[in-house]
Amino acid sequence: NIAYVNGEFVALEEATVSIEDRGFQFGDSIYEIIKLYNGKLFKLEDHIQRLFNSAHQIRLDLDYSKEELKELTQQVLEKNKNSERKEAGGLYIQITRGAAPRSHSFSSDLEPTVIMYLLPAKKIESEIREEGVTAITMPEQRWQHCNIKTNNLLPNILTSHRAKKEGADEGIFVTEEGMVTEGTSSNVFIVNNDKILTHPADGEILPGITRELVLELAADKFNVQEKKFSLKELYQADEVFITSTPKEVLGVIEVDDKQIAQGEVGPITKEIHKLYQNYIEEFKTR
Ligand code: PLP
Repeated sequence: NIAYVNGEFVALEEATVSIEDRGFQFGDSIYEIIKLYNGKLFKLEDHIQRLFNSAHQIRLDLDYSKEELKELTQQVLEKNKNSERKEAGGLYIQITRGAAPRSHSFSSDLEPTVIMYLLPAKKIESEIREEGVTAITMPEQRWQHCNIKTNNLLPNILTSHRAKKEGADEGIFVTEEGMVTEGTSSNVFIVNNDKILTHPADGEILPGITRELVLELAADKFNVQEKKFSLKELYQADEVFITSTPKEVLGVIEVDDKQIAQGEVGPITKEIHKLYQNYIEEFKTR
């Protein structure tokens, strides 16, 4: 696995950054995970655009243009063997504000640290896809800029850990007002009376690339709305599903020990996942 670190290609085991890197010390850093299908980067343009949006919002000036970064992703793929590209789950990109003597405030002329490398595939077994997953809800403790894909992920990490400890597959955040925002690493959708709802893309959620594609694909056939919904609506939903780059579209059959859709992945969730898979099949042949 050949990684890219600040202008150099090195074996992953030898890839290092400074202990004074602000990404390491402060989480002053942004990232993307881009899925590889058949060794090809899926929705590359959208991920690079989101990375630029994140950079802009944390006032990080990139020396790269979007085209240059895209070109760099291709170089990382080319440095790795075809078999490794095909087996990899995705490409990880992280950009930190750079290394500097420790201080909360930063100088705007720092050289950002840019790293990229291939992540191993996290295969979701077909039984899990068919049977669905479980989730618990936890208080939303994040800030008002969840649209920035930052490495400052402690609330997500602790909630995800708690979910795992309690035997659930995902943790879902619920605000003090009782509204559902998103999962620790996924967006949440509910189906209610043939209406499909997901939280609007504002500062309370990450605007998932998968979420966006699902909204597009589902719009032809279903009544989809970007509208907040409550924990009560989540519990009482006909169907619940989560979306993310690695998970694609995954049915949720239980939330906080409450069964959803008689404990089975619902028909609309299945149909939407089918639409998503068709889109991917088409992408692979492009
Ligand atoms: N929400 C959060 C908090 C995430 O970390 C992620 C991805 O990891 C998502 C949503 C889904 O985003 P995407 O579909 O772009 O992978």
